[in-house]
Amino acid sequence: MKDISIVGGGPAGALCGERLANAGFQVTIFDERLAWEKPCGGGLTHKAIEAYPFLLETNQPKKIVRTAELISSRGHRARFEMSRPIVIYARKVLNGLLLDRAEAAGCKTVCSRVTSVNTDGERVRLTASGEERWSDFVVLAAGARNRLLPETTALGASDLEITLGYFVPTEEDIIKVKFLKQFEGYLWSFPRADHLSVGICGKMGQSSSQQLRRHLDEFVNEEGIPMHGAKLYSHVLPSPEAQTIRRRRIVGRNWAMAGDAAACVDPVTGEGLFYALRSGDLLAQALSEGQPQAYPERLRAAFSGDLEFAANLARKLFRGTFLGGAITTRMVQILNYSPAFRDLIRDVFSGSQDYRTLKQRLWNQLGITAAEIARSFLTPRSMASVSGGACPRETPR
Ligand SMILES: Cc1cc2nc3c(=O)[nH]c(=O)nc-3n(C[C@H](O)[C@H](O)[C@H](O)COP(=O)(O)OP(=O)(O)OC[C@H]3O[C@@H](n4cnc5c(N)ncnc54)[C@H](O)[C@@H]3O)c2cc1C
Repeated sequence: MKDISIVGGGPAGALCGERLANAGFQVTIFDERLAWEKPCGGGLTHKAIEAYPFLLETNQPKKIVRTAELISSRGHRARFEMSRPIVIYARKVLNGLLLDRAEAAGCKTVCSRVTSVNTDGERVRLTASGEERWSDFVVLAAGARNRLLPETTALGASDLEITLGYFVPTEEDIIKVKFLKQFEGYLWSFPRADHLSVGICGKMGQSSSQQLRRHLDEFVNEEGIPMHGAKLYSHVLPSPEAQTIRRRRIVGRNWAMAGDAAACVDPVTGEGLFYALRSGDLLAQALSEGQPQAYPERLRAAFSGDLEFAANLARKLFRGTFLGGAITTRMVQILNYSPAFRDLIRDVFSGSQDYRTLKQRLWNQLGITAAEIARSFLTPRSMASVSGGACPRETPR
């Protein structure tokens, strides 16, 4: 195998291309837009920075955010410092940085749309802007809307979320996340170098675009975000079910998928940038070693086992109840009362706490958390300072 075509020059395709070119392959990356402002929060957690330090070291404009605020559906708020900062990029900048690195490693980049991929023959044939191209292998990294599906199935509605948002020309220093009642998804405000990305994500088929837009506009008003010059965006985001993560085919004889196309996204948080980079990287490693079939197993060992666990957790987290109130509301309230619980959430937010050991950690510190809550209730001063007050039984609005 010598020639590799990559469809999609986002984080998955660009990093995969860079690694393959460094390993000596002739790589062509096709992207219909190359570096562009893909609808996204643009937040990179600690695990991405740890694995790819150049994301922090580069001089490209980015925002380093250390403070986050969680807001419950009833308006309780908890603000905390994250254990590791989140680095936020505009996607045009991030994609440009990754594509520049791919080109520097020797990749050819072509600005054109791929309309068909045929993997039946000895060599792969693809059509880009009406022209036929041939290669030995094709990497499909064309994102969540990818419709190039050799021998595999498209992601269904139950594996997808709808997102709506605004790019707002204003500055902020904290990340905000708001939960809604009985709603699988959340609202966010992510500050970037010179603007905010504010948005909402919700499971496909569970809310209409109008409902999402209404929640989003209410959030923007509540948070007093100045909307002059704001631009609306919308996109789909994978939110894969456990069985999709476990069973969907992502590699064949002469093709493989990476990033959103392979549904490599955290079903709870919607974090996809790290998983796009890591899947592109792992695929490049498997190809360089002549073992493309080993790719799914390596993905599983690296993170997809954890994402499968998260997929089973997502619904319970967003819709479940605890002590008579929504889990998300209790989570925000307990954050204010318990430093041990706050430490745990800081690590989840920063991306340094995986899902499989989260349950055990929660159990291990249950006693401490309970004692800290009890202490807060017995200390009048700390009770008064807690935003949202003591844990009331949640009554429907
Ligand atoms: C609103 C929103 C907010 C998000 N916020 C965050 C966040 O804060 N942090 C985080 O980690 N993740 C976030 N994500 C997820 C993240 O954006 C994705 O997981 C990530 O972009 C996936 O990278 P990728 O390379 O797989 O795909 P993409 O970034 O989607 O790249 C795919 C590329 O393929 C190209 N392409 C598509 N079809 C073709 C074709 N037929 N021919 C040629 N080119 C084609 C596109 O132009 C695009 O450049 C968010 C997603 C959304 C929708």
